[in-house]
Amino acid sequence: MPLIPSDVRAVFFDAVGTLLFPEPSAPSVYADAARLFGLHLSASEVRTRFIAAYRREEAADVAAKWVTSEDRERDRWRVIVADTLAGVTDLEACYGYLFDHFAKPSAWHVAPDTAEVLLTLQSRGFILGMGSNYDARLWSLLDAFQELAPLRERVIISAAVGVRKPGLGFFHEVTRAAGCEPGSVLFVGDDVGNDYEGATAAEMHAMLLDLHAKHPNVPHRITQLVELLY
Ligand SMILES: [Mg+2]
Repeated sequence: MPLIPSDVRAVFFDAVGTLLFPEPSAPSVYADAARLFGLHLSASEVRTRFIAAYRREEAADVAAKWVTSEDRERDRWRVIVADTLAGVTDLEACYGYLFDHFAKPSAWHVAPDTAEVLLTLQSRGFILGMGSNYDARLWSLLDAFQELAPLRERVIISAAVGVRKPGLGFFHEVTRAAGCEPGSVLFVGDDVGNDYEGATAAEMHAMLLDLHAKHPNVPHRITQLVELLY
């Protein structure tokens, strides 16, 4: 039996951690940025601080009912940088350095099986798209990576929608872009809460991309993107 349920007509993908990966890793980029601004931290110290800061911002978004905007996204990253790299000589310059870094295609790589998976799904007649909690910086990456071209026509970015994943309003926008019922959409992503549970709550099909096999109990999961073709 194919992995994709037979009533699925559209497949939407999360961006970061699903198709796009920071290279070098975010903690090592942060550690380099810290060093440029006079603060010496190991990548593992950065990782611990980053995760704590990131979670605090997630909690703030829960309290705000997942409302977002480009301004909110800039504020989110400003606070995360400030909390993670407290002690740098010039926080605003350090934030600007990191913000600009992650806008550059050279800071990212695309998973190697992406082109094969997207082109094959497209040839099988699926409507394809992307649904991301990243911000307008995603456009420069979509322009740079030819592998992502099959998604280009239907890109939903939370900062533009005004609601982020896992908010229902975000997934309503995915459904609208897909042009079919939520039950005919499969949402594929690496985050249990934002992608898998969010899409499920919106009555979509959901697939967790569990690259590090951390979530064996999630019913619908793959550990490689290419499994979507099985
Ligand atoms: Mg992700």
